[in-house]
Amino acid sequence: MDPEDPGEVTEPLAPAEALDRIVYLLDRGLQPSQKVRAFQKAAAIVRELGDDEIGRRAAAGTLTELDGIGDSTGTAIAEAAQGLVPDYQRNLEESTVVPLGAGREIRQALRGDCHLHSHWSDGGAPIADMARTAQALGHEYLVMTDHSPRLTVAHGLNRDRLLAQLDEIEALNAELAPFRILTGIEVDILEDGTLDQDEDLLARLDVVVASVHSKLRMEPQLMTQRMVLAMASPHTDILGHCTGRKVVGRGRPPSTFDAEMVFAACARFDKAVEINCRPERQDPPDDLLDLALEWGCKVSIDTDAHAPGQLEWQSFGCDKAAAHGIDPDEIVNTWPADDLLAWTASHFGT
Ligand SMILES: [Zn+2]
Repeated sequence: MDPEDPGEVTEPLAPAEALDRIVYLLDRGLQPSQKVRAFQKAAAIVRELGDDEIGRRAAAGTLTELDGIGDSTGTAIAEAAQGLVPDYQRNLEESTVVPLGAGREIRQALRGDCHLHSHWSDGGAPIADMARTAQALGHEYLVMTDHSPRLTVAHGLNRDRLLAQLDEIEALNAELAPFRILTGIEVDILEDGTLDQDEDLLARLDVVVASVHSKLRMEPQLMTQRMVLAMASPHTDILGHCTGRKVVGRGRPPSTFDAEMVFAACARFDKAVEINCRPERQDPPDDLLDLALEWGCKVSIDTDAHAPGQLEWQSFGCDKAAAHGIDPDEIVNTWPADDLLAWTASHFGT
């Protein structure tokens, strides 16, 4: 993958790799998860049977007799087995390209991604796959921010699972150096403004993204208090998707709160406001982003990726940052990892 222009892969891949690439592209295009799972399953079957057996079946036209191989997956495998780029892949290569316009300079300045998920919570891939993709996209680091315990619908990590994840990250870091996986969490801001994880663990993590995921329709004054309290916590570093809105499909209206007060708190405590790159979130809305910038808040351009292909979404946020005239130096993930860590550590005061 060319980090400058990850857009399209045009050389033919072996069948299992072609299916992997289709999974990546489906995720990049935010396609339904059933489709993603069908191609993931097909890739596993192809790997299990091996190239010889797949080649024989492709020639004999018996791929779809296999349990778990349907028309789309079978056709893609057969085309790849003939040394072709499957049509299904070719179409996705073009239709899911993430555009990058005025934000190109900012994109080139980014060194990492501070908000993403893995298999450990509700993501679709192991940490290693997220890390390898981030590396291929030109990053020097990522922050692993799976969900916190009370977000049970997203398999939030309790204390023991988070500790186990830290062990896995340590082992992966030894393998992937100089690329760095920084430890982190997307911690739920609970209704009373406290954070959904033990203090000693939050203190141990490199980066803490704090987000509201419940009671989004809370009365504005209480929502303001809740968010301001969370920003005042020395553990918090980044305010995740601040309004909680969804702008695709049925959508979801933004939460209402005194944004002036919340961003004043972010500025006062030197916390970053996240530009969330997910196409269905696009949070904060333009007017709120301007307000955050007026207050002098730092920003973090994060994908909130739940799959490797979604790591390319940073381009959306870079274009947005460019449109709002944001100075790359005010974007915390343009900084080298050590500077980012010095900034998060500074939140504990001296
Ligand atoms: Zn997230």
